Amino acid sequence: MRPPLLNPLFRPVTSLDGIGDKLAQALRRLLGGGDLDGAPRVGDLLFHLPSAIIDRRNQPEIALAPAGMVVTLKVRVDRHQRPPPGNRRAPYKVFAHDVSGEIALTFFHANEPWLARTFPIGETVYVSGTMEWFGGRPSMVHPDHVVREADLATLPLVEPVYPLTAGLTGKVLARTIGEALDSVPPLPEWLDPLVVAREAWPSFAEALHAAHHPQGAADLEPSSRHLARLAYDELLASQLALAIIRHRQRKSVGAARLGTGQLTARIVAALPFTLTGSQRNALAEIEADLAKPERMLRLLQGDVGSGKTIVALLASASVIESGAQAALMAPTELLARQHARTIAPLADAAGIRMAILTGREKGRDREETLAGLASGAIDLVVGTHAIFQAGVAFDDLGLVAVDEQHRFGVHQRLALTAKGKATDVLVMTATPIPRTLVLTYYGDMDVSRLTEKPAGRKPIETRVLPLTRLEEIVARIREAVSRDAKAYWICPLVAESEELDVAAAEDRYTALVKALGPIVGLAHGQMKPAERDKQMAAFQAGMFRVLVATTVVEVGVDVPDATIIVIEHAERFGLAQLHQLRGRVGRSDRPSVCLLLYKAPLGAVARDRLAIMRETEDGFVIAEEDLRLRGGGEILGTRQSGMPGFRIASTEIHATLMEMARDDAQRVVEHDPELAGPRGEALRLLLYVFGRDEAVRLLRAG
Ligand code: ADP
Ligand code: MG
Repeated sequence: MRPPLLNPLFRPVTSLDGIGDKLAQALRRLLGGGDLDGAPRVGDLLFHLPSAIIDRRNQPEIALAPAGMVVTLKVRVDRHQRPPPGNRRAPYKVFAHDVSGEIALTFFHANEPWLARTFPIGETVYVSGTMEWFGGRPSMVHPDHVVREADLATLPLVEPVYPLTAGLTGKVLARTIGEALDSVPPLPEWLDPLVVAREAWPSFAEALHAAHHPQGAADLEPSSRHLARLAYDELLASQLALAIIRHRQRKSVGAARLGTGQLTARIVAALPFTLTGSQRNALAEIEADLAKPERMLRLLQGDVGSGKTIVALLASASVIESGAQAALMAPTELLARQHARTIAPLADAAGIRMAILTGREKGRDREETLAGLASGAIDLVVGTHAIFQAGVAFDDLGLVAVDEQHRFGVHQRLALTAKGKATDVLVMTATPIPRTLVLTYYGDMDVSRLTEKPAGRKPIETRVLPLTRLEEIVARIREAVSRDAKAYWICPLVAESEELDVAAAEDRYTALVKALGPIVGLAHGQMKPAERDKQMAAFQAGMFRVLVATTVVEVGVDVPDATIIVIEHAERFGLAQLHQLRGRVGRSDRPSVCLLLYKAPLGAVARDRLAIMRETEDGFVIAEEDLRLRGGGEILGTRQSGMPGFRIASTEIHATLMEMARDDAQRVVEHDPELAGPRGEALRLLLYVFGRDEAVRLLRAG
């Protein structure tokens, strides 16, 4: 299906000269990705760009060459001085001179035959490397390059420096990338010629070449023409993929679902609170979407505790009123059960028939649920991705609400909508994503935002403390739980091995049981789900007053009367994650505290980040700051979820290009939705080159 023209870029790197399994493995570490056979592809190398340059253009005389600088010297070889016999630690020295003086070219563990060949006495050579001065004597230890006078042209005067990994040298990588560059086939221009002309951009191949052959520091700037062009290509590929998906969703016949308002009214009446203004607005937007004959694809963005679940339930009720079914999908079994618990009494009150479906439902129960879904006897199913496995059929699935979208990528989004013929989709995320990132990752969606917190919430007091004050903190918790408080104690998951992290959590658990008595629970990711749920439930019910947990409580867990959260090694968490965790408290009308414990000493950035946590509770402010301090991928947790990231474009730096790409992609899809015209054909190549080809499968002639 992939155009054969692109084959050279999709070969495994092992097809390149001198790349065996070992180097392929190193490249895989460096570049990630890779095909089924584990080796990255030649094309992956092309987007591994230099992060710096070594400028060798400075060609002073020896006597004027400053210490510590990289220079290129033209010298005449005078004599070789071998280390004294028996002293392998002493260096081998080659003495050479120019008009200004003499220099010692110094080699440890010398390869004598090579030195004899490279530095014949009386010959003029160019040596390039870092200049050193020892006690007034100039020297150069292991020059980076040595060439004969006649070969000066082969000396890289400006040398790209690539990020490396163990087992891979700069020279090997540069050579391999050179070969990869040579295999870029001539490709048709996929950009709008007017844009190319206006921006004075080089072609894709020229831009790649320039990116790997920087002529000076300016060529590493993201705003340089070749890097801007490549960033734009990448952004356009992603925006085009999203635009195609969106177009597909829209075009595929949806159903106009008109609710009667009966079920929603009963649910609202059964709620012990009134909806916030933003909840009502979001619901109105959703209901308007549902009523339209096109498919809905909407993102519900709301800070932790802003009350998204209830919005999803009311949207489901509205769809059920229209005679269809709804599914609410959570990222974990724990959360699915929690949602089911919250929703069950409300569903009862409204007369909605609800079932739960996760990987754990087995046997008769499961069979009954499947039968109910297929016959339409069940209106609402709450569960995990098990809902979307083969063998689960719906009578008429009208709405899928997906909780915590950031764990799902475009692939999953596509799979989701395959279950129902005209299924509307609502995705909820608690990650307050900055605007540019919404565009980047959810360009195919409409957005509703919950900006208000439910009334009566007290602010959370956040304190930043060194781990050395642990005892004091434990004493404070002992005192608070004696007055009926509940506390989370979060241990990070960061070590290379999850076992080590879990062991740390278990140690903390043991210590706290010792200090506080048998009122402490433990929940971590290596427990059996049933056991973990039991611990959580005991905490929820109040049998445990303290719950030691790894980040399994990060997403969505709701224990409203927990008012203390201690986060150990807070400096190891991302801001967005800290914010999510902190959102576990402050869910009632009682004041809450969040204690961020750090291990001293703190670096400047870490200190800034923790200070932001202390200063604001506004998730959007925190997200913007996080973006500023760390860059986009981390916020969305793309590392873990494998959501397509960006290799060249940077969402902060290339924000303007992003908007351009979005508009361009929209125009393309309006005029040539099947990418069948000449530019369309070229754009298909673009989608493949940047790994956004899942969208191509949606095209008719794909
Ligand atoms: P989110 O998923 O957005 O983090 P939840 O839906 O879990 O938030 O809601 C958090 C808590 O707030 C729940 O206990 C919920 O019952 C409660 N809640 C939701 N909406 C309101 C509201 N309008 N007023 C008061 N409490 C609310
Ligand atoms: Mg939630």
